Amino acid sequence: MRFLDLHCDTITQCREKGLSLSENPMHLDVRRASCFDAWVQVFAIWIPDTLRGEDAWEYFESNYGFFKEQTRLCEMPHCTRFDELTQALSSHRRASILAVEGGAVLGGKMERLEELYRLGVRILTLTWNAENELGYGCQSSGGHLKPFGRDVLRRMNDLGVIADVSHLDRTGFYDVLELSERPVLASHSTSEAVLDDTRKDSDDKCFSMRRALNDDQIRAICAHGGLIGLNFCGSFLGDPGDDGVQAALRHAAHILEQGGEDVLAIGSDFDGCSMHPSLSCVDRIPALKEAFLQNGFGHALCEKIFFENGLTFFKSML
Ligand SMILES: [Zn+2]
Repeated sequence: MRFLDLHCDTITQCREKGLSLSENPMHLDVRRASCFDAWVQVFAIWIPDTLRGEDAWEYFESNYGFFKEQTRLCEMPHCTRFDELTQALSSHRRASILAVEGGAVLGGKMERLEELYRLGVRILTLTWNAENELGYGCQSSGGHLKPFGRDVLRRMNDLGVIADVSHLDRTGFYDVLELSERPVLASHSTSEAVLDDTRKDSDDKCFSMRRALNDDQIRAICAHGGLIGLNFCGSFLGDPGDDGVQAALRHAAHILEQGGEDVLAIGSDFDGCSMHPSLSCVDRIPALKEAFLQNGFGHALCEKIFFENGLTFFKSML
């Protein structure tokens, strides 16, 4: 099968733990992903909210070097254009795209965005959970995109860096949709409505709900020709004790009902959060796709969700 995943934290986790991308005991490695006939993986370099200014940039730089080394060792070409992506898939059956999760990486300097582009970063998540120089994350006091954030978004549009709204506060989310001339990405998100139905009471509910997209947001992304990657995090899908596959099916069906047939994709969040065992590593993906097929998602629709919607998006955005 073909698989395109819009978000994982494997690079920063591997580096922190001294592990390799080729083979490790975490959620994702190249050895287990050899089950795919074609595999496109977006690797995010995550910027912790504890890092700001030069510290954030230095953290990015050291993880960037690790990303380049590991993808080279694994023969998983780092692609910055769509023709490179198709070339990598035909020659190696796998390709990587680089994202940065957290606009704090810029340290408030626009020239850093140019540098990220030059280094091959093609997706930038505007915030992580807290406030930064661009705007407000979902766990901050919230509010509009800041003037620097608006300038950054315009320059991202010009350069061709995709704006990722996962983690962004809702007020900022609508600012991005209004301001961006190009479609936006919610790389690893779930549905608030489904979560609200399925989650009983827990302290974590509040954060999970803030990270999820409500129906109006989902429809807005669809109307803008954007893309939504379904997150496998246990608490974002439902109660962590639930069957993860069934929960994923419920979220997928709901996003499709909002008009997401060309918009829904996968954004696993592998190595970025705690998963239900049925979704806890990359070699569970074929079984997940089979569950989609068994539950009435047609073959063509499954191809779209697991691969083609993402590929079509990158064809127009890279
Ligand atoms: Zn994240």
